[in-house]
Amino acid sequence: MTDRRNDLTAWDRNHFFHPSTAMGAHARGESPARTIASGEGVYITDTAGRRSLDAFGGLYCVNVGYGRQKIADAIAEQARSLAYYHAYAGHSTEASITLARMIIERAPANMSRVYFGLSGSDANETNIKLIWFYNNILGRPEKKKIISRWRGYHGSGIMTGSLTGLEAFQKNFDLPRSPILHTEAPYYFRRADRSMSEEAFSAHCAEKLEDLILAEGADTIAAFVGEPILGTGGIVPPPQGYWRAIQAVLRKYDILLVADEVITGFGRLGTMFGSDHYGIEPDLITIAKGLTSAYAPLSGSIVSEKMWNVLVEGSDRLGPIGHGWTYSAHPICAAAGIANLELIDELALVDNVRVTGAWFRAALDQALGDHIHVGDVRGEGLMAAVELVEDRDDRRFFDPARKVGPAVVAAMLEQGVIARAMPQGDIIGFAPPLCLSREEADQIVAATLHAIRQVL
Ligand code: PLP
Repeated sequence: MTDRRNDLTAWDRNHFFHPSTAMGAHARGESPARTIASGEGVYITDTAGRRSLDAFGGLYCVNVGYGRQKIADAIAEQARSLAYYHAYAGHSTEASITLARMIIERAPANMSRVYFGLSGSDANETNIKLIWFYNNILGRPEKKKIISRWRGYHGSGIMTGSLTGLEAFQKNFDLPRSPILHTEAPYYFRRADRSMSEEAFSAHCAEKLEDLILAEGADTIAAFVGEPILGTGGIVPPPQGYWRAIQAVLRKYDILLVADEVITGFGRLGTMFGSDHYGIEPDLITIAKGLTSAYAPLSGSIVSEKMWNVLVEGSDRLGPIGHGWTYSAHPICAAAGIANLELIDELALVDNVRVTGAWFRAALDQALGDHIHVGDVRGEGLMAAVELVEDRDDRRFFDPARKVGPAVVAAMLEQGVIARAMPQGDIIGFAPPLCLSREEADQIVAATLHAIRQVL
């Protein structure tokens, strides 16, 4: 077994190009590396037999938890009966049709069709193309710019990397700046003046957005893209009134709204979609992660009735839409999605998010709320963050070179709990599987407190 593990370690260093990894340090064996062997419920086990509570659900995606036999069976059954057929030119499979219906039944009102992809990034690329196509059909070829937020994360493609407002994912790639614009992040804790109410800060964000639209010319702005809760940018729920204020501006200037629900879709906030939670009325919704709980790669762009009608009229005039992926609506992934959505219902996981999410937040608040180095405890449903500061009273942040966040996360791992050091700021992120129990929530909180005490 040890020989095998040594082989794997060597092959990993020599052959595997990992995403979001310090390549040299990994290849030289200087950074922590881990090979995961199995998973059950909220736990994963590595090849050395070390078990950890995964309080980040992989990458906020293993919503139903690990080791679900029902999904494994559905995947196997689909692979046996029909592993693949494409979805071009009106072809489909029973699985892809069924899943499309199930998604639309669960989606917010006025959603019409699902365009399937494989990742959140490609779904957002699809959205951008659909938005441009839409405005071309409407005879508004100038209306093409897209606004996202600083600290938004929308993927790692060429355009979606530009949409993303986080330096770590952009620097040194020379991604196209145009036609993407960024506006204020709704990050009350870091960005608001202390005297400002949340409502006032929301109004300020909406004003900033309107200023940008007017400076660029409203007839050049096609869409606004945002996550209901900023995710990779720091797990930041919006301040009170934010989405109401933003949507008022978008409506005023006839600008489409894309809700990027790659993380928040399918229950994470205690509602089926984040849009339901915040009263967002999107024209497009991006889904991925929780759609299959990552048992197979699958994403989607959910298109509103309003956009669909225009796209159909355009297609009647201009011909079939020239946008397709070989694996769009892949039947094995669709089978995983169906079983996953059924499980979410059968296990009442959205209800569990509300109950256990409230328990988790209260426990975090109680354990950490008064700690001198805890500036902010925040979250919604089963998505939460603890932001560490040098001094909570004058909101002084740590020198990033100290890497306090990663040190706390490493100390948590020593106690068998996986959290994520968010990429910008000393922020400990949590997005556990939606089947989390109260005992498991308590275990996460205890490990966090212990690690903070150890490191700081
Ligand atoms: N959008 C959001 C909100 C995300 O959090 C992510 C990934 O974390 C993406 C898009 C990109 O998804 P993927 O990594 O599947 O391309």
